[in-house]
Amino acid sequence: MITFKPLASSSAGCSYLLSSGGNSLLLDCGLGFDQIQRGLAYKVTQLDGCLITHGHGDHVKGFKGLLAAGVNCYATLETWDHLKAHRTHRSKIITPYKEFRVGDWQVVAVDCVHDCPGTVGYVIKGGGATCLYLSDTAWSRNKFPGLTHLFIECNHSVEIMRDNTIRGGMDARRYSRTRTNHMSLETLEKFLDANDLSSLQEIHLLHLSDGNSDERMFKERIAAKTGVPVYIAGKHEVPF
Ligand SMILES: [Zn+2]
Ligand SMILES: [Zn+2]
Repeated sequence: MITFKPLASSSAGCSYLLSSGGNSLLLDCGLGFDQIQRGLAYKVTQLDGCLITHGHGDHVKGFKGLLAAGVNCYATLETWDHLKAHRTHRSKIITPYKEFRVGDWQVVAVDCVHDCPGTVGYVIKGGGATCLYLSDTAWSRNKFPGLTHLFIECNHSVEIMRDNTIRGGMDARRYSRTRTNHMSLETLEKFLDANDLSSLQEIHLLHLSDGNSDERMFKERIAAKTGVPVYIAGKHEVPF
């Protein structure tokens, strides 16, 4: 059985623990290493590895601590370049669409639409599940057959963000940057329409914006569309 446990999920930091039996993967590490340790009950060294989507601080803050603790971290060459000078034998370079193994997990990275070179998402197979982890992407050009678990960004509602901008609570530059780099509820709905969801068991919505989202409405809209349980990843599940 697969379990998905958010440690944190916001523009201040994103990190999630994916487990199946004794196998576990960390998805991004955008928290201080001490917070990650607390979130994992000090079992960091039992991780099979950490999959990193991109080099923005809210996804990589703890990577040096993980590498130093002997955890293999996986990211694209562009991401490692972006992080500079911190490449070790634990820094594994991955290539989009080329499958690799991390312990018993089968993983393939897919490209994303985001303002950080080399940003990827991951399809992860393990424990009888096919999971998609897609964070920080305006949309996805791919279709994903046979998904059982979806962990996906649902950053803002275009409607809410437009209202906030008109009312002056958000400047126009930030509005356009958010629209072109992060997935909206409306785009997520189109993504769900475009994919075969017949095997889907659960959805976790990630990376909700502080001022431009509405947890209850997001949950209701996605549940109505998919008919599966929808969970919202909490902003700070591990105390900061
Ligand atoms: Zn982010
Ligand atoms: Zn980002």
